[in-house]
Amino acid sequence: MTSPVRPLPQKTIGVLGGMSDAATADYYRLINARLNAHHGGWDNAEVIVVSVNFGNIQHFVRNGLWDEARAYLAEKVDRLEGARVDVVVCATNTMHRVVAPIMAERSTPFIHIVDPTGAAIRAAGLRRVALLGTAPTMCSAEMARRYAEKFGVEVMAPAEADIAAVDRIIFDELVRSDIRPSSRAEYLRVIDALRAAGAEGVILGCTEICLLIGQGDLPGFPVFDTTALHVEAAVDYALGRMPAA
Ligand code: GLU
Repeated sequence: MTSPVRPLPQKTIGVLGGMSDAATADYYRLINARLNAHHGGWDNAEVIVVSVNFGNIQHFVRNGLWDEARAYLAEKVDRLEGARVDVVVCATNTMHRVVAPIMAERSTPFIHIVDPTGAAIRAAGLRRVALLGTAPTMCSAEMARRYAEKFGVEVMAPAEADIAAVDRIIFDELVRSDIRPSSRAEYLRVIDALRAAGAEGVILGCTEICLLIGQGDLPGFPVFDTTALHVEAAVDYALGRMPAA
């Protein structure tokens, strides 16, 4: 509802983005839409985006250069903190591997992408869900542990050949906003296989997958979109409705 108090009390959201620019554009759009859904009128979010060069990230991820990635992104977090953001969100699942440890050493609040996702899965009463994302995400012991220990959720990765296919489509297509029906069909096939193996839902655990598939493609099978859930948590935080982790 429209606020009589001006300026509107709200916190500034810092987005560590560019991983990829396609996903960050979506974050920016959705953060504003979500805040406007709460307040209506002309209200939108107060946001600072630090958008990195995805060529560097692709190089670090593909070559397992996690220390280099951490040093590169720590300097970008310095820039967000220098801009005095109130909360940081990192608009990629994969790079939480280095950004979560960076933020653990800072005092700026941080919303880990697993937390709103795990909370939504738990609220839906599910215990075993498929996890799609980049190969490092699907194979990440840390992600699996966070879902299990904080939310009692077991994540299931696809079969090895399917991990390669899902990862290839992200890096060759989705991060370039290249959306192909054949890749949509491929993702739905991988999800079907996981469903047959006991998955009760699926996490879109890469911030570009929502560009390719959504709940509408999987009627009756719960879809947990990390982009949408992370955005909701960021806006709730900005409006003082939720503490960061
Ligand atoms: N946006 C992606 C994710 O959510 C992948 C790109 C990257 O490696 O950061 O994991």
